Amino acid sequence: MQTQIHKSLQKHPAIAQADEILRSCVHCGFCNATCPTYQLLGDELDGPRGRTYLIKQIIETGSCTEKTREHLDRCLSCRSCETTCPSGVQYSRLLSVGRELAEKNSPRKIFDTLLRRALRLVIPYRQRISVIVTIAQKLKPILPAAIQRQLPTQTPAGLTLTRHQRLVILPNGCAQDAFAADINSDCRNILDKLGITAVSIDSDSCCGAMSEHMSQSAEAEMFMKKNIDAWWPSIESGAEAIVSTASACGLMIKDYGHLLAHDADYADKATRVSELCVDISELLSNEDCSIFENTQSQRISFHAPCTLQHGQRITGKVESLLNQIGYELIDYNDAHLCCGSAGAYSILQKNISTQLLNNKIENLLQAQPDIIATANIGCLLHMRSGTDTPVKHWLQLISPAKD
Ligand code: SF4
Ligand code: SF4
Repeated sequence: MQTQIHKSLQKHPAIAQADEILRSCVHCGFCNATCPTYQLLGDELDGPRGRTYLIKQIIETGSCTEKTREHLDRCLSCRSCETTCPSGVQYSRLLSVGRELAEKNSPRKIFDTLLRRALRLVIPYRQRISVIVTIAQKLKPILPAAIQRQLPTQTPAGLTLTRHQRLVILPNGCAQDAFAADINSDCRNILDKLGITAVSIDSDSCCGAMSEHMSQSAEAEMFMKKNIDAWWPSIESGAEAIVSTASACGLMIKDYGHLLAHDADYADKATRVSELCVDISELLSNEDCSIFENTQSQRISFHAPCTLQHGQRITGKVESLLNQIGYELIDYNDAHLCCGSAGAYSILQKNISTQLLNNKIENLLQAQPDIIATANIGCLLHMRSGTDTPVKHWLQLISPAKD
């Protein structure tokens, strides 16, 4: 694809890479077949090939219409198209440039602007979101059932853990800490049984993904640098990994090296942080997990979040760990499709998100599992809103008794 870059953008730092990505697309359209929004809406411009053309147009004209921005807004950033693309088009990198330009050139209506700002002012801050969760718990009886199911039911039990020689960093995260602190607590317990100490640093923060997805790159950088500063002393003390229990955060941390490559003070540290980051399934796959064997023979439908299967390209690890310790994993239709959570998407694009959720839940429940499992807090909460069947983080299925 030939691109004539608009003169106003020729000095833009990411344009050369965007141009290269555009050139790698051969317009075959294979990606449309696995794009959730194309499947639902049937509009070429709501599929990856069409969006690629729209971004090309923005780069060539230096301008963006409201309609174009809306087509980009409707993208879930699920990266299913990247998994499908035979030419290796790095669609998500292109989308990030396209969205940044769309944001600058097509002002949003006031309500949309305020809603986005409010989300960015609350969700990434664990103290603020905890206050909201606490208030919601007090109002629980009068809240809709979908919200009630999202609220925490238990506070994590206090654990007595041994200090081991092997050390990993376990990021606190933001929303997960407020809604499901038991996930990290179970993770600490599992790692302890394997002879690994998981340390969490109080001064770390949101990974920055929400700001990055809303094209607020300065804000995302602030979060990334805060985390690097918080984790660096433990890295220097020999932490062997940064372990993520939320696949969306893991994907973001694995991208720190790329996102801070331009920053002379942080580029090297960011690269190191990205290299050290692993999803908890990657770490456990290399350990002897036979000690977690269970005898309950429950049937599990596992939803692999897009950030795990398409973003990090981790497939089969969780499933084989769960199989190995005695669970029966159920196959279901359209396992590659997004559940509609996608960060703030479930709030910003409610109609599409709800349709995707309904389809996902219908597929997951078809073979009547005992439990739905997943690997990311956003997907977990979103799916809980759509079913009475228990939805858990898969780690919670292998967590040993807390002694
Ligand atoms: S599958 Fe890849 S090469 Fe084909 S249209 Fe989609 S992005 Fe372009
Ligand atoms: S990221 Fe997902 S929603 Fe966006 S174009 Fe690709 S497949 Fe479609």
